[in-house]
Amino acid sequence: MKLYSTNNTNHQVSFKEAVFNSMPQDKGLYMPVAIPRLDDHFLNNLDSYTLPEIAFHVAKNLLADAIPENDLKDIIADAINFYAPIVELEENVYVLELFHGPSLAFKDFGARFMSRVMSYFLKDGEKTLDVLVATSGDTGGAVALGFLGVPGTRVTILYPKGKVSGIQELQLTTNGQNVRAIEVDGTFDDCQALVKQAFTDAELNKEFRLTSANSINIARLIPQTFYYFNAYAQLLKEGKSKVVFSVPSGNFGNLGAGVLAWKMGLPVEHFIAATNANDTVPEFLRSGVYEPKPSVQTISNAMDVGNPSNWVRIQDMFRDDPEQLPEMITGYSYTDAETSEAIEKIYSSYHYIVCPHTAIAWQALKDWQQDQPTGKIAGVFLSTAHPCKFPDVLPKHISREIVIPAQVKELEGRQRQAASLANDFESFKRYLLNNK
Ligand SMILES: *Cc1c(COP(=O)(O)O)cnc(C)c1O
Repeated sequence: MKLYSTNNTNHQVSFKEAVFNSMPQDKGLYMPVAIPRLDDHFLNNLDSYTLPEIAFHVAKNLLADAIPENDLKDIIADAINFYAPIVELEENVYVLELFHGPSLAFKDFGARFMSRVMSYFLKDGEKTLDVLVATSGDTGGAVALGFLGVPGTRVTILYPKGKVSGIQELQLTTNGQNVRAIEVDGTFDDCQALVKQAFTDAELNKEFRLTSANSINIARLIPQTFYYFNAYAQLLKEGKSKVVFSVPSGNFGNLGAGVLAWKMGLPVEHFIAATNANDTVPEFLRSGVYEPKPSVQTISNAMDVGNPSNWVRIQDMFRDDPEQLPEMITGYSYTDAETSEAIEKIYSSYHYIVCPHTAIAWQALKDWQQDQPTGKIAGVFLSTAHPCKFPDVLPKHISREIVIPAQVKELEGRQRQAASLANDFESFKRYLLNNK
């Protein structure tokens, strides 16, 4: 697979280069030069395949020239080793549970696949790959657990002190091995600025082989297509063949993967872009004007993004027919009060507990179904994280009903370990140089 930059289609690179560099110099994003359409036999018989089989078939159509099939099969078997079930809550309303991986969030799909692909491309004897990542919570956990024990790699996570949830902090700080955590006396933006500065620091770049693990990496996007195909496979088993996906969105990698799956032939009727008050995309879909804004803080904080970086990828996939974009995607945005109300409604209607991000996707699906009463289209809303990661946002009478998954119980007994640093680049740099 060759990839081009969305800012310059003449600038083309290999998959390996796109994986290690994440972003082209021209600040566009990498996209496949050609998106393959999957064969009809596969698409029509999706319900006869397992998730790893689906993942392999999709991945090999994109990556066969970059990774030999047997190696790709091993990478997928190792990375995609948990379930992504759909659960019916009422007629034509299904939740796609993406929180059964090690960090209990959908980011496990991207992080686990990317870490194994990076490790695969590292040759014996090459310098250790140093992954630097700033997190507001979920990304760090997925990257930490995704890279844990992966040969040839080391992860350094920066998180804002006191601003991640208890379970998120345990996921960041109790790993050991090739994963270390730093709590920074500052905000998420401060953490991100420190990481960005490190990438431009000559001395650090001479000493270390630095790379980022953020959501613009193409190796995170591709594995997220797998669960769209797999969700459709499960719907086919229920006798449904028309689907609308409602996707809780921040940086729009998740929705981007859905659109990529559709471009590869998955028969999706419609997509719903569900956001919190950070409504740049829903506003664009309404008005046709794309106006990035500074992000505002909400209770669904993994979606607090005012200028979503993956949106250019979605626009790029409609490059040939821009008019089709607003026909294919509808946007909805919600306040914190509406989010809380949705959490309550979901609990009282179905006795089902969701995280705030998931609640927004449900509400958007319900509103879309109301707006176009079609009757026959199965609605699937994506559940991006397990509710136990956001206990403070849920009302007490709901949060106390959450069943804590085994992987979290196991973390609770472990020793927490993090370096503490001031929000200051020199301190961060000294830490890296002193802890080779
Ligand atoms: C990252 C995240 C999102 C947003 O996903 P994008 O791909 O950035 O749009 C939504 N929900 C949760 C729980 C997340 O961690």
